[in-house]
Amino acid sequence: MRIARFTTGEDPQYGVVAGDLDEHGQLDDDAVIISLAGDPLYVGIKLLEEQHKLADVRLLAPVLPRSKVVGIGRNYAAHAAEMGSDVPAEPLMFLKPNTSVVGPGDPILYPPQSSNVHYEGELAVVIGRICRDVPVEKATDVIHGYTIANDVTARDLQKGDVQFTRAKGFDSFCPLGPWIETDLDPDDFNKGRRVQTYLNGDVVQDGSTADMIFDIPSLIAHVSSVMTLLPGDVILTGTPEGVGPMEVGDEVEISIEGLGSLANKVASR
Ligand code: MG
Repeated sequence: MRIARFTTGEDPQYGVVAGDLDEHGQLDDDAVIISLAGDPLYVGIKLLEEQHKLADVRLLAPVLPRSKVVGIGRNYAAHAAEMGSDVPAEPLMFLKPNTSVVGPGDPILYPPQSSNVHYEGELAVVIGRICRDVPVEKATDVIHGYTIANDVTARDLQKGDVQFTRAKGFDSFCPLGPWIETDLDPDDFNKGRRVQTYLNGDVVQDGSTADMIFDIPSLIAHVSSVMTLLPGDVILTGTPEGVGPMEVGDEVEISIEGLGSLANKVASR
């Protein structure tokens, strides 16, 4: 099931997106969104009679993390190598503030403090329930679903600051969407789902989730051994190789096989 958050110009609401994805992760033209009563993270799936053509609504970030977005650094060996770094012995964690989250089509705002802002296409895991010290074998139980993230990073500030808060924490530096897919299994990603990033239509990242060093259950176990996870918290699972700069006016689109695609343009702040 694909759960989206959207607006028709009125208050945001949640809905279930129905329709088939083509090979580019785009839905067919007659896709519809069926409205839900309330936030399914808290009230479950309650379908309403109301529905809209997907083309007639504006999708919003499918989740607003109440507490945190947890990023994982260097979780693909080829990306660690392109950064001139070793693969970490344990998952390398950082936080992005929930104020960095924006939705599909929202602008990524290029901050004046940086002159080297990069895209990082990533699979994102949305947590479904409050949890702490989750064992690897129980990790699937706490997953609400999966979406796509762009872990936007001011590379120059990241290198200069050493720690990542400023470089990854600007408003609009965490596009999420287009919806949350609840029917996939962590094992689907171990087997490999293609993660591709397009910059102005050209492929710049083309990786597979099979190449993650730490898989999703291991990441949930690791993160939850440090901090309690709340419903709606998001874990970004790391980016494949091929990161690079974006400029004002560029469009970056990330697609993940079976999930869909997330597109945003870069604008000056
Ligand atoms: Mg990243």
